[in-house]
Amino acid sequence: MSLELVYYNDPVLRKRAEPVKRVTAEVVALAKGMVEVMQRSNGLGLAAPQVGHSLRIFVMALEREEEDGTLVLGEPRTFINPELSHLSEVTVEATEGCLSIPGLRAPVVRPLSLVVEALDLQGERFRLEATGYVARCVLHETDHLNGVLFIDYLKGKRRAALEPTLMQIDQRYRGCKS
Ligand code: ZN
Repeated sequence: MSLELVYYNDPVLRKRAEPVKRVTAEVVALAKGMVEVMQRSNGLGLAAPQVGHSLRIFVMALEREEEDGTLVLGEPRTFINPELSHLSEVTVEATEGCLSIPGLRAPVVRPLSLVVEALDLQGERFRLEATGYVARCVLHETDHLNGVLFIDYLKGKRRAALEPTLMQIDQRYRGCKS
């Protein structure tokens, strides 16, 4: 499946994505296409709305964060209809970026750890305890399924400071949609 990234200000990024009713061959093909887009864009994760599909699916290449903060990639995993629980009260601030908002990075405060349950490509339910940047990635991608972007967490002056860059991104990528 040939997929293209969509960018900041595309309405699909602001929609609440629909649950996947059944893990069909089309769903598997979409997830595999998403992995390709993620890998060629050097992303840690990618959600289906970012390639224009309003479905509750994300893929993640990030496997773990070392104690020194090094991010280690592993075999990409697919999360279908993810559900989060056990979000820690302890939060941590770290810098994030997003393939849909190229070139912009900003600090976001998020829970340190969580549990995510989802269906895999076989339609089997699995459970993952995530901490550190892995939890952050799960939260960032799940936000995409709810129409939320990481820049939404930035308020006041921090957000205002991003506006010129966001306008540039919008103008630069608006014509790139297929
Ligand atoms: Zn993103």
